[in-house]
Amino acid sequence: MRVSQVNWPEIEAYLKTDDRAILPLGSTEQHAGLSLSVDSILSERVAAEAAEPLGVPVFPVLAYGLTPYFLAYPGSISIRIETYVRMVRDILDSLKRQGFKRILIVNGHGGNQPAGSLAIEWMADNPGHSVKFHNWWNAPETFAKVQEIDPVASHASWMENFPWTRVEGAQLPTQMKPMIDLSLMRMMDPDKVRAFLGDGNFGGYYQKPDDDMQAIWNVAVAETRALIEGPWA
Ligand SMILES: [Zn+2]
Repeated sequence: MRVSQVNWPEIEAYLKTDDRAILPLGSTEQHAGLSLSVDSILSERVAAEAAEPLGVPVFPVLAYGLTPYFLAYPGSISIRIETYVRMVRDILDSLKRQGFKRILIVNGHGGNQPAGSLAIEWMADNPGHSVKFHNWWNAPETFAKVQEIDPVASHASWMENFPWTRVEGAQLPTQMKPMIDLSLMRMMDPDKVRAFLGDGNFGGYYQKPDDDMQAIWNVAVAETRALIEGPWA
């Protein structure tokens, strides 16, 4: 159940029967010709579809994350690391206050990794509570499915191009972009990153058939659902 679609008495009633919750993490950043909200759309949607048959509440996606390297691309918003981990801590503290004890964080953006470290620290501060940090797109089964279709897959490439992340009317290149050298990019300031990346795709084709994308999606939903089910420590 999406928290945005229920009222507080429904959450109170749920907490009498269960103590699991899901928090999706996203980002607002350039994704070449795809939506600026790719990471938020995908993490929230995979979480909601995975949780649907289980009735576990999915909180609204935290739609801003850590993306300092893309700041030269208009529409990309980056939160400072210290602000971000405090924000995630405040959310976890709020969940704890109300009786949630097992929280699955479904992360959709690699740059948000400090939230994973924060989750471990938070568990040390809050014994009896369990947090799983799940990078949905590179979890073992989902990533294997991506590799099976095409091993050249990256940020803003075909692997993020779902019918629900496209921008209406946007024309995408049909040729494959060679993989960029990520270790070089990691040393660049935002203006250099933009000059280096051009459109923003890190490498690979821009689009694959919808059937391939649905096959990846089905694996991702099943893999995420299994994590909601357990095991929990
Ligand atoms: Zn992305």
